[in-house]
Amino acid sequence: MSQEPAVVEQKTPIDFEFDQIPPFDRKRRKHLWVVGSIFLVEPKKMNAGPIASFGAFTPLAMTGPACFYCEQEYTDELGSRHCAGDQP
Ligand SMILES: [Zn+2]
Repeated sequence: MSQEPAVVEQKTPIDFEFDQIPPFDRKRRKHLWVVGSIFLVEPKKMNAGPIASFGAFTPLAMTGPACFYCEQEYTDELGSRHCAGDQP
């Protein structure tokens, strides 16, 4: 009888960041307002000391604020209502 090899889940840095997002609470139905940013990374500056490292990331684009769960852009009206959540 042979055993299947164990599946080892490998995480990328992006997966790790998304692990920090709490699951949707269906009782509280509260929006999770987020913004997303995209930076140009210059690896040569990343290990050149703290001041030079600060310049290693150049902002290129930003989106939001929007709700991570219902994926709707923030408005005062939407913010005053419960979140529809991450409906399948
Ligand atoms: Zn929402």
